[in-house]
Amino acid sequence: MGYRKPLDMKIKLHHQIFIAMIVGAGVGLPLNMLAEAGRIPEEIPRTIAKYGKGVGDVFLRLLSMIVAPLILTSLVSGVTSSGNLSGLGRLGGRTLAYYISTSMIAIITGIVMFNLIDPGNSTDVALLEQSREVVHLEVVESGAGLLDTLWNQVFNLIPSNPFSALADPGNKSILGVIFFALMFGSFIVVVGGETADFLRKFFNSAYEVMMRMTMFIIRFAPIGVLGFMLYASAGRGLGVFVALGWYMLTVALALSVHAFITLPLICAVLARRSPWSFFQSMSPALLTAFSTASSNGTLPLTINCVEKRAKINNRISSFVLPLGATINMDGTALYEVVAVLFIAQVTPGVDLTIGKQAIVAITALCASIGAAGIPFAGTVMLVVVLGAVGLPLEGIGLILAVDRVLDMFRTSVNVWSDSTACAVMARFESGDD
Ligand code: ASP
Repeated sequence: MGYRKPLDMKIKLHHQIFIAMIVGAGVGLPLNMLAEAGRIPEEIPRTIAKYGKGVGDVFLRLLSMIVAPLILTSLVSGVTSSGNLSGLGRLGGRTLAYYISTSMIAIITGIVMFNLIDPGNSTDVALLEQSREVVHLEVVESGAGLLDTLWNQVFNLIPSNPFSALADPGNKSILGVIFFALMFGSFIVVVGGETADFLRKFFNSAYEVMMRMTMFIIRFAPIGVLGFMLYASAGRGLGVFVALGWYMLTVALALSVHAFITLPLICAVLARRSPWSFFQSMSPALLTAFSTASSNGTLPLTINCVEKRAKINNRISSFVLPLGATINMDGTALYEVVAVLFIAQVTPGVDLTIGKQAIVAITALCASIGAAGIPFAGTVMLVVVLGAVGLPLEGIGLILAVDRVLDMFRTSVNVWSDSTACAVMARFESGDD
């Protein structure tokens, strides 16, 4: 009675992350407002934002450091531990079907919300023009055609050299790592015998070590999150939020419908899990996705939460999550359609017919598949969608000012959808067994 072990006194990780978010915004926003009102020099919030980003980036870099070896060891260990390859194709087919369907639902939600709110009509275009940012040339030049983008994703599945895919500094070759790890694991099973036993043990052990490293790095999540929240809340003036208020509201509401209605329904009906308790299990990953705006960077936490907190088998998570972080981006797909429809609405002389809206929807799906799981990847991909319906690429400059904030929301939705996919696959796989 009355006795508490010291461990019980500890604040849980997701609470720590949450507190860090509140503190970051609680410091950054008032400073920003004071600067806006001319009560303190503008440099104060901007400098704090700069150092906040520096701290956040160190955390993100630590996570990036472990992504490639974590995926390799986790996938090889996942494929070899079952010793049976027959279920792999089935899991792959189901996962892809889930990814494409949920992204399509997200896109439709975005289009419906856009038509309900009609943000362009309530927006003060003159005010919007004042907050326009010049689009960096790099962004424009990176635009490739739609088919090129998709073809690149298929082609990049095969790494020309698995070691360089593993060593890619920006983790841009995750698909290549997945492909190689799947083949390598499968052939370990095919070879069988002592060789397979040895390699299975080796990769299981290496995976265990990687998981421990992940758990160690995750302890710093609250510091990283605090840094990123300072960056997001103190980084730029608040005036832009007025000019782009209706647009932001449309994206945020549509994302909320997808995150709080569609995906929980899928979780309850298809995965037969309580959406609330699954959401709680995933909360450290979702909060980290929110503040880092990187699903690739969050991947170690997502894997950790799915396996250790939601108790889903590594055989499923090791395949579904890395693939999802690379190609399943419901939040990004939704954002792409709303952003392009909004740009069209506020561009004089442009009227998007139903046919063109359908092109926007399909292109947005492809663009979300092609986008990398890093900050602003979806923004760069807007070039593809705008290009597909002949809209001026400079339109991106109109919405750039609030992009970081929307990136935070859409990245959490991306990670939430990947996690729900794991829960759904786990249920189907257990049914098959
Ligand atoms: N930042 C997003 C992610 O990492 C991608 C995007 O920019 O939409 O999932």
